[in-house]
Amino acid sequence: MAPRPSTVPQVVIFPFMAQGHTLPLLDLSKALSSKQINVTIITTPSNAKSILDHVSKHPNIRLIELPFPTADGVPRGCENTSQLPSMEYHAPFLMATKRLRKPFERVLNDMKESQSLPLCVVSDFFLGFTQPVCQSFGIPRLVFHGMGVLPMAICKASWVHKPNPDPDSGHIDLPGLKLPFVLTASDLPHEVVNSSDLNDPMSQFLEEVGDADVNSWGVIVNSFEDLELGRVSYFESFYKNGARAWCIGPLNLHDEDVNTQNAPFGSTNVMKWLKEHESRSGSVLYVSFGSQADVSDAQLDEVGLGLVESGVQFIWVVRSTTWSPPNDMKERLDDRRGLIVSDWVDQRRILSHVSIGGFLSHCGWNSVLESLSVGVPILAWPMMAEQALNARVVVDGLGAGVRVRNQGVAGGSGNGVVSWKAISKGVRELMGEGEKGTSARERARVLGGVARRAVEEGGSSYKTLDELLQKLQCQC
Ligand code: UDP
Repeated sequence: MAPRPSTVPQVVIFPFMAQGHTLPLLDLSKALSSKQINVTIITTPSNAKSILDHVSKHPNIRLIELPFPTADGVPRGCENTSQLPSMEYHAPFLMATKRLRKPFERVLNDMKESQSLPLCVVSDFFLGFTQPVCQSFGIPRLVFHGMGVLPMAICKASWVHKPNPDPDSGHIDLPGLKLPFVLTASDLPHEVVNSSDLNDPMSQFLEEVGDADVNSWGVIVNSFEDLELGRVSYFESFYKNGARAWCIGPLNLHDEDVNTQNAPFGSTNVMKWLKEHESRSGSVLYVSFGSQADVSDAQLDEVGLGLVESGVQFIWVVRSTTWSPPNDMKERLDDRRGLIVSDWVDQRRILSHVSIGGFLSHCGWNSVLESLSVGVPILAWPMMAEQALNARVVVDGLGAGVRVRNQGVAGGSGNGVVSWKAISKGVRELMGEGEKGTSARERARVLGGVARRAVEEGGSSYKTLDELLQKLQCQC
């Protein structure tokens, strides 16, 4: 594709190929487009199709496609982590992205030749190779982690200081960081706990992208100041060259399709079901574990039973090619009680529907923000990566949720499956009239208002985005 003329400022966005990393950067692209900035999104051919669907209303957003590199351990045709057969393929997939360095260099080179270099490149934390390339072209790189400040600060501090848990309590202290909850080793992503093992290719990769990260010009943070309880400067202290963390979220609130209620719900009958069940506001639980977590069929059985036993109405998105509800569950699940869907749904629109009163979530950061920003409290069930930290933030830091607490594994088989009883109890706690649920609902409602004000004209995130754009334009 021919480069554009240089008169209108341009930003290049390079997302990592996973839904949770790409979607917020599409929101950022739309926010920039509405401020008359041209946006070029770099992606791979199969991801380009779904990206185009999202940004088709914005003529000043264009795509450049780079073929996904072939690499050992990455099944052919997989260009997004949600297409990987299991999480085992995640590490080879991450390493393969390093091969995009040369093609990325060529993109910037073409832009240079046509005098249309961008104001900056916003690229994912995992795409660390973009940092030295941007530096060689004299372009600021803004790194995007897809996480909140506090979880990022905990990961950075743990990576740098390698703290030992207290031998008696198992608690972890991080120098200079006062936490609103007690931190234990089990809250940390296992990559952070294993970070000392430099023979591990994943640790080496994270060390590399971590170096690129701290040398970046700045950080784009999908969060808002009032959520971060004054920890932004602590997080910034890990960066070199005075890099700033720009809190400009929640980015999902820039998604005008959700705000206007015009977007389709995907191929499911969710909208119809919600319309028919709009009897009592806040009565339906939305259940989804994101685009990546591997949840076993045995665990899905327990979730199903837990939901049925809770007596609460629910919409449950199941990502499994092998699971279907057991017969006894089918018998007890009439259409009024619950809807199980297996296709991709428009989560944001579901969460903004008046009938939704709670979200049983794996606590991916996007899900957390999408829920809290529309005032929906969370039943937190973290599964991997930094989700346990996000759950701590939601439940213990912000008080806007309740935690699924396992009360012994299902059937006593020791297979690590969370029992239906624990799930059902958590659902009743969150959705019921008891103290925990009432207080979580109120906190989520308040946070929803604060989030909306942050992105409105004059709000903290709105002002920060303007300040960032001004600073970048002054640099040129
Ligand atoms: N999502 C969606 N429909 C689905 C499943 C997920 O729209 O059926 C979106 C969800 O709204 C969120 C993203 O996919 O924006 C998932 O990101 P998150 O950080 O919550 O979890 P991850 O998938 O990265 O574990």
